Amino acid sequence: MGDSPSTRYDPQAVEAARQAAWRERDAFRTPPPAEDRPHLYIKPSAPFTSGNVHIGHVRSYSIGDAYARFRRARGEDVLFAFGFDAFGLPAELGAIAGGEPPSEWVARCAEHMTGQLQRLGFSFDWERSFMSSDAIMYRWSQWLFLVLLDAGLIYRGAGNVDWCDNCQTTLASIQVEAGGTCWRCHGPVRLIELPQWYLRISAYLPENDQRLAELAAGGRWDEVALASQQYVLGRVDGVELDLTAPSAPEASGAGPAPQPSASGAAGEGARLTVFTPHADALGQARFVLVSPRHPDAEAWAAGVQQELARMRSGGWERSAREAETIPLIDTGRTLGGPDGRELPVIVTPLVDSRFGVTAVLGIPAADHADEVLAQRLGLDLEPELEESTQEQRQAGQAAAPGARAAVRYKAFDFAISRQRSWGTPIPIVYCEVCGAVPVPREQLPVLLPLDIRPTGAGNPLAELADFVETACPACGGPARRETDTLDCHFDALWLWVPACVPPQEREEPLEEIFALPDLRHWLPSERLVAGSDSGNFVFDQRIVTKALRDIGPLAFLADGEPFAGCLFHEMVIREGRKMSKHLGNVVDPDELLARYGADTVRLAVLYAARPQRSLNWSDSAVLRCHRFLTQVWDYAHAQLLQARREEAGELPASAGTGGEPAAVRDTSEHLRVKLAGWCENGVARITEDMEQLEMHSAVRNVMRLFDRIKDFEKRVLARQPQLGQADREALIDALTQLIQVLGPLAPHIAEELWIAFGGEEHGAQTPWPGVSLQVPA
Ligand SMILES: [Zn+2]
Ligand SMILES: [Zn+2]
Repeated sequence: MGDSPSTRYDPQAVEAARQAAWRERDAFRTPPPAEDRPHLYIKPSAPFTSGNVHIGHVRSYSIGDAYARFRRARGEDVLFAFGFDAFGLPAELGAIAGGEPPSEWVARCAEHMTGQLQRLGFSFDWERSFMSSDAIMYRWSQWLFLVLLDAGLIYRGAGNVDWCDNCQTTLASIQVEAGGTCWRCHGPVRLIELPQWYLRISAYLPENDQRLAELAAGGRWDEVALASQQYVLGRVDGVELDLTAPSAPEASGAGPAPQPSASGAAGEGARLTVFTPHADALGQARFVLVSPRHPDAEAWAAGVQQELARMRSGGWERSAREAETIPLIDTGRTLGGPDGRELPVIVTPLVDSRFGVTAVLGIPAADHADEVLAQRLGLDLEPELEESTQEQRQAGQAAAPGARAAVRYKAFDFAISRQRSWGTPIPIVYCEVCGAVPVPREQLPVLLPLDIRPTGAGNPLAELADFVETACPACGGPARRETDTLDCHFDALWLWVPACVPPQEREEPLEEIFALPDLRHWLPSERLVAGSDSGNFVFDQRIVTKALRDIGPLAFLADGEPFAGCLFHEMVIREGRKMSKHLGNVVDPDELLARYGADTVRLAVLYAARPQRSLNWSDSAVLRCHRFLTQVWDYAHAQLLQARREEAGELPASAGTGGEPAAVRDTSEHLRVKLAGWCENGVARITEDMEQLEMHSAVRNVMRLFDRIKDFEKRVLARQPQLGQADREALIDALTQLIQVLGPLAPHIAEELWIAFGGEEHGAQTPWPGVSLQVPA
């Protein structure tokens, strides 16, 4: 048996011993694929290499780790590994502040964070961890870029970026100060139009929408995660109908006479499909709104092209989205409305933020924003509003027999290129003869020079002749490399896949990697555990999975879903506010670890709140959990000491072994039955909690079970002077089950006690009650 029972609970010693044992027996190595064994891939979030593990990370990984250990405890094979999201602006800014190359900065940060996560005892397979900024990994981004480009899902278009003239650089929105000035030089920032690479997501919006019902029915997506997907999708239900331009277009006072567009899309008799969520008010439509990104916007605004160009580059993306201030362009054109009235055609980005890239009916009588726009357009609504009757509404519907049910989505294509040096180089070269030419896949990766030192001004990549000057892969002539890099959001599109790839296979061509049986074995991930701010990432991962299914590499994922289950947890706050250095309310995990140990910290973050709720930090949860673990430790050792003394005959022969008065035996037998029932009940509840990732509830039920066990002893001792042998056995058995259910929640102390109680030490995890894990030969 274990240590002397007089040993006080010393979490630092217990945790150091357990972690050394786990390392020694390589406890968390991913088992090789064995189809006959139950198996699952639990995907933790990919942390930014920020340099420090914060309490929000601790929450996230405590939930995922408890779940991983629970599934292992039931004898299942678990893949639990992640990669660092190491590219991007936060890392670049950190490196600038630290005055070192970003590659060195992220390596140092990742090493430090790995040490912190290991100290917390998370059961990651570290051999499978990786950095998205490693060349062997970012070639995944480049390969994906080329595959999606081939499939027409990546395209080049014009987009608006914030630009600082002093620093000669584009700025991310977080680098634009509140007054619209540059974070670095505090000079003015203006929006300029630059060619950007875009990811086309529109083709998969209806399927992402349709699959949501299946995911909800599967029961493994929690309500926060599902709601985030609905929010990002932005589905609006309504009707659409085709309107036709009147045969004699109104002359426009705002510009030259309208020119029929090359396609004739907006000429006489031209048609436009318009949408509205107000199916019952079609007859009250007073104007038509067209998104400036609508494919036909150019044709409709042919008479006011300059205004359209100004709008497209004019900063509306950052301007207020309110109807009171949003830019409007009257095209001077009209369409015949549902009730025969001529409706002016207006171009405005208000459409985008409300309905996506489309055209909609403006119905002031049914929609407040439209009412505001009507006033701004000077439309005289009063008589109309007074006259408006039910009959007229119905007349409007009757006048539009072509109206059909329709859906619009707000989610839209987004720019994936950044004019920054710390990111995946985009595998494109520009040749004067051939134009934009993709780098052939066999030439990947296009290496990012590691000695770049960004300063915040300009893009240092564009100044490196060795990098920029190259030969055209198509004609061999001189060419220049694309110096934009991919946004780290693009890296996130694949970051959930490589954990499934054994490290020795990682250098293979990607086509071969996607053919590995390991991917079919582990994918889709049974559960993603991530912060509730991951909705956009997950949405786009779901889109790209469907694209790769149709293109081929992920054809085995029939529903195109990367995650069969998804848990989004809320953040950790303090005094009701987000933690920040500025507010001085940051909880430092290292301090807590040094004081209370990993088991207490982990148990406390699980105990303090349901994952789907914000965790308002208080030290009382830590104190409560520390007291609990100390009591379990002391009580378990006291019981072991007692049992040992009885075995050694140091104490009088115990009751219940025969020859005792029947009444005494009967009393404690009844209590033993009761204890067994409490255990059975408790374990069943905790099992259910763990299956549902309701760890806060699991911790409470573990605490309750411990109270029951102590209560059993108290009740027996109220009836007889000491525990009989059967009572002692029942008590030890109950404590053993307590230790087992504690295993996934506070793994170090649980395994230490498990061993003290005579349990086998092997594999990844102490077994769940009723489960016997195979002891390796
Ligand atoms: Zn500047
Ligand atoms: Zn060429």
